[in-house]
Amino acid sequence: MSLFGLLPDEAGPGRPNIPVLPGRRLRECPHCGKLLHLRPLPPDTDARCPRCDAVLRRNRSAPLTAPLALGCAAFALYLVTMMLPFLELHLLGRPRLVWVASGADSLTQEGYWALGALVLATLVLVPLLKLLLLLTVLVGLRLPRPPRWLHLPFRWYRHIAPWAMLEVFLFGALVSYTRLVDLADVQIGAAAIALGALSLLLVATDSALDPEAIWEMVSRRHLDEDPALVDDTRPGAAATAAPAVPAAPGPRAARAPLIGCHCCHLVSRGRDGDHCPRCGSRLHRRKPNSIARTWALITAAVVLYVPANYYPVMNVITLGQGGPHTILGGVEEFIESGFWPLALIVFLASVAVPMLKLLGLLSMLLGVHARSDLRLRDRTRLYRVVDAIGRWSMIDVFVVSVLVSVVHFGRLANIVAENGALCFAGVVILTMFAAEAFDPRLMWDAVPPHRRDRAGQDRAGQDRADAYRAGRYRADRDGTGPGEAAGNAARPAPAGHGAAERRA
Ligand SMILES: [Zn+2]
Ligand SMILES: [Zn+2]
Repeated sequence: MSLFGLLPDEAGPGRPNIPVLPGRRLRECPHCGKLLHLRPLPPDTDARCPRCDAVLRRNRSAPLTAPLALGCAAFALYLVTMMLPFLELHLLGRPRLVWVASGADSLTQEGYWALGALVLATLVLVPLLKLLLLLTVLVGLRLPRPPRWLHLPFRWYRHIAPWAMLEVFLFGALVSYTRLVDLADVQIGAAAIALGALSLLLVATDSALDPEAIWEMVSRRHLDEDPALVDDTRPGAAATAAPAVPAAPGPRAARAPLIGCHCCHLVSRGRDGDHCPRCGSRLHRRKPNSIARTWALITAAVVLYVPANYYPVMNVITLGQGGPHTILGGVEEFIESGFWPLALIVFLASVAVPMLKLLGLLSMLLGVHARSDLRLRDRTRLYRVVDAIGRWSMIDVFVVSVLVSVVHFGRLANIVAENGALCFAGVVILTMFAAEAFDPRLMWDAVPPHRRDRAGQDRAGQDRADAYRAGRYRADRDGTGPGEAAGNAARPAPAGHGAAERRA
């Protein structure tokens, strides 16, 4: 029996290797598990999986220079954002200055040290670490003799990236500001403006980054002696691209089946538990214990979801009046005071998104158990949405952290955090871990191959037919059939990156 249920014709033991197509790279789609040949792309285009529409590669014309320049600017703005005051509040002549990190301090002093640690990590430590790791890799690659360990910082960068939440904090600060103007005279500090610019720069840096290009450069620079890893997508490299599929280190790996790395997406020959020859991560055909871990995490999240909405997230006392605030109570307040857009932001981030995440993951788990091929492609898209929007639920936690740090005027006005905030932060973290633990390829594995391909390729064929009718379809001159090559759905990416970069 083939270890690779996906492609028994191509990857089973004793079967011939996948034929090497000049200038093409083997990739496993991280969302549906399809093995594809990624052909060289024109600059600033995206390659998408023909079966599930996942982005397999964002090919950027300046993969080193643009993120380096944007990353350096972001680092400078990060220092400004952290060092200058963020808000200045005046209440009856008593001023109070707060910094981005003040919330963590106030929450810790009130005894919510776990919330304080979470705020400190997501707003200060992880963004700093993320920028430093990225700059280390990008600067290291420009050195005449790049260090051999550059794959490590880039691997860590990929793991911690979702936990840097400065742009989420920006929206939380906006919501807090609207609540504070009712209470006192509020002035926006220089750090707030810097934070706005920093958020834009961080998004631009992410969009300019081509992780595949960085991995190719890392492996090419420090593994020059290993021809198996030398990039075969360079111009002129096609003729010497013989060992397209490297093997993981170890005696058993040479005849092992193909396995895709979940971190750098290199397809190599290896078995579960071997190390990826490019980034050093442990290889797993599928995420280990994915279903059991996801069930455990979403069950815990559902249990916490009830107290998170039932108990107040903070207690607001102004001149002896006021009382506890729940999440839904906050939404109602915004509606009553006419702040419809803010009510919508808080409702979407704090009520709708956690619910969508829990129901979405639940439907995906049940789909795997039922071996259902119903809307397989749409469920895979839903997974991408759930994975991407999870962190935005942190808005309410950041609102509490800002208000708690700003409003400390004794009997005049005081805001303190309540247990609901802790439960709510727990829901957000557990659902983020659950999305990370779930392996969407299991949804495709659960379906027999003929139904799997029908669920995906029919749609791809339909897209192609639509494109043909619209006059946009360009025949594949290499004569590659459907499903063999990705990039047939190559789409132009947003323009704006510099001229083609010289890759030394
Ligand atoms: Zn796919
Ligand atoms: Zn790898």
